[in-house]
Amino acid sequence: MAVCGRFAPTPSGRIHLGNILCAMLSWLSVRAAGGTYLLRIEDLDAMRCPRELADQIEDDLHWFGIDWDAGGSAGGDAWYQSKRTEIYDRAFAELERQGLLYPCFCSRAELHAAQAPHRSDGTYVYAGTCRGLTPEQIAQKRRQRPPAARVRVPDRVISFADGCQGTYCENLARDCGDFIIRRSDGVYGYQLAVVVDDAAMGVTEVVRGRDLLESTPRQLYLYEVLGLAAPCFYHIPLLTAPDGRRLSKRDGDLDLGLLRARFGRPEPIVGMLAAAIGLRPTTQPVALRELIADFSWERIPRGDIALPREILQTERA
Ligand code: GLU
Repeated sequence: MAVCGRFAPTPSGRIHLGNILCAMLSWLSVRAAGGTYLLRIEDLDAMRCPRELADQIEDDLHWFGIDWDAGGSAGGDAWYQSKRTEIYDRAFAELERQGLLYPCFCSRAELHAAQAPHRSDGTYVYAGTCRGLTPEQIAQKRRQRPPAARVRVPDRVISFADGCQGTYCENLARDCGDFIIRRSDGVYGYQLAVVVDDAAMGVTEVVRGRDLLESTPRQLYLYEVLGLAAPCFYHIPLLTAPDGRRLSKRDGDLDLGLLRARFGRPEPIVGMLAAAIGLRPTTQPVALRELIADFSWERIPRGDIALPREILQTERA
């Protein structure tokens, strides 16, 4: 089957080094396989994602050496999640038809107070507070505030083989709980939109940061109930400071604005990332397209990757 990959940034800020590593590996994987590469703008939360930031991302990607076969501004509205609400409405209606959705009136404070166990990514396991509300209770609560919509999850293990991290499994009922499909302000959740879009756009491989590994069982569940074919997944390592700490503001924002100003051209950054990720033996500057021929997922490590000191903004330390 022909490979189709994508980069799906959320334009709530300038892209940083972690995003560019994701774009780089997803692009290399597609180009090495002779596949199709897409750019989808994940601006679901349109208030936080102004159009200028999305346009800036395109400029940064082009500067870095990444091109795409479809999507982005050249493709028009269809590639912006903020313009795809009707498509998500249809998937929502299908979940509703199957009786899988229910309204949830819990406020943020109530979710905190429910003291459900925390997941490692800092989110809550939903305690199921609104799962069994009667029609009368729902009608009464609706008068006070608009509800979010949650999907009921099954009490069984969902397992998949990640191309980078190996086998990962989760019991959604135990490890996650019923999750949000549409927020109370009407904005669709990431989990629904990403599944509907990857399926509609014919994406066969999803490459993204390891911080999204825990989202994947939720997405696989949605693929299943919506009757859509799931892609394969590669959850790539996260970047850390040279001593293994999580990257923080102290290391400079490491966004593309800063890196473009500091290095002037992409080759030194590509060279450093390629060495850090095991694609090249040295940090020598190199053009991105020169990495296509030797690209292989087998060379990409699973664990976090410490950045070389040269790339950090040491003069601000
Ligand atoms: N829009 C998400 C982000 O920027 C990525 C989603 C995905 O690749 O599935 O973190």
